[in-house]
Amino acid sequence: MNKILVANRGEIALRVMRSAREMGIKTVAVYSEADRKALHVQYADEAICIGPAPSSQSYLLGDKIIEESVRLHADGIHPGYGFLSENAAFARKVEQAGITFIGPSPESMEQMGSKLAAKETAKNHHVPLVPGTAEPITDILEAKRIGSEIGFPLLIKASAGGGGKGMRIVKEEKDFEEYVNSAMSEAQAAFGDGSVFLEKYIASPRHIEIQVLGDKHGNVVYLFERECSIQRRHQKLIEEAPSSILTESLRQKMGESAVSLAKACGYYNAGTVEFLVDDDLNYYFLEMNTRLQVEHPVTELITGLDLVKEQIKIARGEKLSFRQEDLQIGGHAIELRVCAEDPMNNFLPDTGILNTYKRPQGTGVRVDDAFEQGMEISIYYDPLLAKLIAYGKDRNEAIGRLIRAIDEYQITGVQTTLGFGRWVLQHPNFVSRSYDTGFIQKYFLPEPVSMLKEDAAEKEIAALIGASFFYENSTAENSTNSKSVTSQSHSNWRQIRFW
Ligand code: ADP
Ligand code: ADP
Ligand code: MG
Repeated sequence: MNKILVANRGEIALRVMRSAREMGIKTVAVYSEADRKALHVQYADEAICIGPAPSSQSYLLGDKIIEESVRLHADGIHPGYGFLSENAAFARKVEQAGITFIGPSPESMEQMGSKLAAKETAKNHHVPLVPGTAEPITDILEAKRIGSEIGFPLLIKASAGGGGKGMRIVKEEKDFEEYVNSAMSEAQAAFGDGSVFLEKYIASPRHIEIQVLGDKHGNVVYLFERECSIQRRHQKLIEEAPSSILTESLRQKMGESAVSLAKACGYYNAGTVEFLVDDDLNYYFLEMNTRLQVEHPVTELITGLDLVKEQIKIARGEKLSFRQEDLQIGGHAIELRVCAEDPMNNFLPDTGILNTYKRPQGTGVRVDDAFEQGMEISIYYDPLLAKLIAYGKDRNEAIGRLIRAIDEYQITGVQTTLGFGRWVLQHPNFVSRSYDTGFIQKYFLPEPVSMLKEDAAEKEIAALIGASFFYENSTAENSTNSKSVTSQSHSNWRQIRFW
């Protein structure tokens, strides 16, 4: 492979190009009119504008991207995550054009892309499942009957879902019909497929996923787990590896389940098998993501592997250069997704100019980003600004490093999840490892004045009172224009010690 076109933008485009460059492979960037000055465009050996800002007119134009790849003699396409990464039709067309798709086969993507089809495969391979319906809902009365059997609360889920979209928790039977209809229309709008199904709602689970890597010769290994239980809107905000609750034997069992599932669909390249784990350490298959995952750096840090390089080598047809028994976990890594969002306002995405942007540095700190001071965060794309990752010999060292790095990070002009991340990392339940996917809902209230629930520790409440000046500022701004966040208010946010 001599030249790779990266069909993506932002931090992941840059991250892929860096590995390609280390391997002596040339890179091509694609960009929208809004991304003319973006760092991935500056970094690439060649760059091509593919259309206006909306991704439907640029980053999602598969045919155009393939045409440009052919014209520029790119012999590989890396899709990153999001956009076209899980689009089997795109992967197929790439291969038909004589270009290598750096990812799994279109057939594996089809088999695992639909949550329902994936669950069917999992069931056939004795991988434990969250109980639920095996077919999409067609008859609402019949579904309601099955719903009552499963019991409330239950979850309505989009088969084509992703990024937490198309999901509804139904607490009472009376809301059932309305929620099925709204989940269907959300799924239709987001994924072009309105199929939804029912799942038992697992109370207070942990989200633990297994990274797998397979080559084109039938070898598949697991690169251990990532714990991603700190979530808002069913989307991850903090991820770590290894999980602080898995035993050696459970790790092996879950790893082997993930490998058997990958083998069941002839999987090659990088993929992730997601599970929920309940209080009794039972695990249930959720879905498989047939691509590189946002949070892959924590796995890289504890295994010493470069997952993008492995993806490229696999795509070139090379055999994995290690076996399962060669792999081991070293140290601990934690990632915070630094998003342009306002945690005080329900994590609403924020936009604006990065008036100040200074990255942290130092031992054990990795920043995967694609921004510089003065750049604009627009409404068009994902609010992810950066992934801030800390590595240490153990969990405590990783936590301490991540907090130190958060304190060094200076961002003004948009609200971010930095201060929120610091609050989580110091929270007694996070530190003591006793939490689940309900953490944010349980301990963090979006309303500025009562951010912590009433039952919070007394010292936290005392700190809150000391910080009340900030809330007044913030509330006043929110009521006029939530977009115009001044650097002053942001630095207050950074200085207050309510965490
Ligand atoms: P991960 O499991 O890698 O953490 P997320 O669910 O957070 O993935 O999604 C990763 C990225 O992909 C996000 O930018 C999200 O908006 C996007 N994404 C996820 N699923 C889809 C989908 N089905 N279609 C388009 N974009 C998606
Ligand atoms: P997506 O494709 O949007 O990533 P997932 O099926 O992976 O959808 O679910 C996303 C998150 O939603 C999970 O990490 C978990 O927090 C929550 N979730 C999903 N299914 C269940 C369930 N059956 N019970 C409880 N929580 C669930
Ligand atoms: Mg998921």
